[in-house]
Amino acid sequence: MDVKKLIEKYHKAHSEHPCCEGCGAVIQESDASDVEYVKTKRRSELFIHKGCVNEVWR
Ligand SMILES: [Zn+2]
Repeated sequence: MDVKKLIEKYHKAHSEHPCCEGCGAVIQESDASDVEYVKTKRRSELFIHKGCVNEVWR
């Protein structure tokens, strides 16, 4: 999955960059290699740093 493209798409759609669901930091395209993209039923799309995933889901 090309996370960088998904971040660009989010940026265009929302006029802002997504924030990490774990630590709240703004995620830039340059962070894509360290970011997981998750699609949920409740919230359409989430971006989470790989290092923050375990803090969110446990
Ligand atoms: Zn994070």
